[in-house]
Amino acid sequence: MICPRDANELRTEADHGITIDRCRACHGAWYDYDELAELEATVADEEQRLGTVEYAKHESVLPCPACSQTMHAFNYRAYNLELDACAEGHGFWLDAGESERVREIMKERVSGLRRAGSAQQAWARAKGRSGGGVIDQIKGLFGGRPRT
Ligand SMILES: [Zn+2]
Ligand SMILES: [Zn+2]
Repeated sequence: MICPRDANELRTEADHGITIDRCRACHGAWYDYDELAELEATVADEEQRLGTVEYAKHESVLPCPACSQTMHAFNYRAYNLELDACAEGHGFWLDAGESERVREIMKERVSGLRRAGSAQQAWARAKGRSGGGVIDQIKGLFGGRPRT
């Protein structure tokens, strides 16, 4: 396979245990269709990986390294990260550094899901306490004296 950006030969390489095809010139890499999910799986479990991956699909200029058809670009999980994919489902093209961005985004997502979970627990605890609280104390301090 050759690089869709500069037509250099792609070489097989391991990325976090995944066998990918990387260009030595531009350091972009080709991930087979399942390998993007495998990349996400290095930081997130199956449940955390649910949801739409390809947002705002639009035309790309890059040819698929497998079938040479023009790929489409999309916003990865609605983040400001544009990846390219083959419409025939051959795989994904990630430019230099984009595989690390994918992992960072997944890490953010995992910690976001954890925060949401613990916020819900905190809220449930707060609701569980009996009423009153700060607002009533303030009302108590300033209340009672009618204005003229
Ligand atoms: Zn290249
Ligand atoms: Zn293809």
